[in-house]
Amino acid sequence: MSHFAREQWSAYVQNRLSGEERRRCEEHLYICEHCLTVYLECVEREGAALPELKKEDAFTEAVMRRVLRPEGRHPERLHPEGGDRADRRTLLHYTAAAAVTLVLMSSGMFQALLADVQHIQRAEAAHSLSDRLMEKAVAAIESLRPKT
Ligand SMILES: [Zn+2]
Repeated sequence: MSHFAREQWSAYVQNRLSGEERRRCEEHLYICEHCLTVYLECVEREGAALPELKKEDAFTEAVMRRVLRPEGRHPERLHPEGGDRADRRTLLHYTAAAAVTLVLMSSGMFQALLADVQHIQRAEAAHSLSDRLMEKAVAAIESLRPKT
C-alpha cells in the first residue's frame, strides 16, 4: 500500500489540496491506520492555527451552552402548562360534580335524602324542604370528597 507523505497530510489539514486530492486522501484515511495516525498528528500540530477549527470550537461551545443552560426553554414552556393545569383542574371539578350527582341518583341516595327530609320536616317542620335537601346534599358531597 502506498502511503501519503506527511507533507500531504499537512496540506490536507490546512485545506491546501484540490478537491480530487482531498477525496483520495479521505478514501485512504478510511482504510489506513498508519496515515490516520500521521493525519491526526498533523491536526494536533497545525489544527489550533486553523480559523475553521476555531469557528467549529465556537459553534460547539454555543451548542453546549444552549443544551446545558435551562433558562432558554423553560419560561416559554411553563406558562402554557400552568394554564393547562388550571383548565384541567376546572374540568376535574365539573367531572367530580357530575360523578357525585350520578352516584347519588343511581344509589338511591336522593330517595333516602328525600325520605329523611320528609321525616325531619314532619318532626320539626322548621326548615324548608329545599334547605334540608341542600344541607344533606352538601354533607353527602363532603363525605365523598377524598381526604387531602
Ligand atoms: Zn497510508
